[in-house]
Amino acid sequence: MKRKLISVAVLALAGCVAVIAQEKKKQEWKMPTGYAGITHEMSEFYEPVPPVVTPGAVLPDGGFTAPSDAIVLFDGKDLSAWESIKGGAAEWDVHDGVVTVNKKKGDIQTKQKFNDFQLHIEWQVPTNITGESQSRGNSGVFLQGMYEVQVLDCYNNPTYTNGQTGSIYKQSRPLANAMRKPGEWNVYDIIYTAPTFKADGSYRTNPTVTVIHNGVILQNHTTILGTTEWIGFPQVKQHGAGPIILQSHGDPSEPISFRNIWIREL
Ligand code: MG
Repeated sequence: MKRKLISVAVLALAGCVAVIAQEKKKQEWKMPTGYAGITHEMSEFYEPVPPVVTPGAVLPDGGFTAPSDAIVLFDGKDLSAWESIKGGAAEWDVHDGVVTVNKKKGDIQTKQKFNDFQLHIEWQVPTNITGESQSRGNSGVFLQGMYEVQVLDCYNNPTYTNGQTGSIYKQSRPLANAMRKPGEWNVYDIIYTAPTFKADGSYRTNPTVTVIHNGVILQNHTTILGTTEWIGFPQVKQHGAGPIILQSHGDPSEPISFRNIWIREL
């Protein structure tokens, strides 16, 4: 009996020692208090919680299908999210899950207007492309209907640098040429922040844009100076939310195609 009591006492003592050791360990792991008594908890925020977004699937060419919160602008089936800039239905050619520019029908634009956004759009130059410089697979993505991110076949096709693929046309040359050859799909991811205006119509904050082409950054938070002008310099025109416009360029080269277009409002 006496031996049993001694065993219990020893076990209890061992337990106490273990608990004390654990406590000591916990204290040792406690983050140190910073200057002026500031603790790490004081600079940690728990609200609001970012929403859960389910990412899209990765495509063989490096694109992504639409994440769960994106607005799908073209899923390969129809142009119901688009209209002609002249009014009426968008009449580009939808076939085989892609849409091909119809140069006789002019530019098309989204019915919906946007402010800040993340835009994903894929485009393909046909293998039978002809022409050179700006007359070779020319199209464009106009942000808020005002500012063009150039689309052009710049695979072994020199042109003025502030007019090549991924330029802010006639304003900002791209940081690289990341073109895939004709027949392959190019992927644009465009992150855009809309301008704000003063009462006199001048920019309070300029629009800015980041352009990633096939995973390569071409425009790094570039400041947009004003509207895209073919001849002359950018103009500052006050505007609100605007559409995405896809350009039907007047050059005689074979038309390019688009697919997998989606946008996330920011
Ligand atoms: Mg263009």
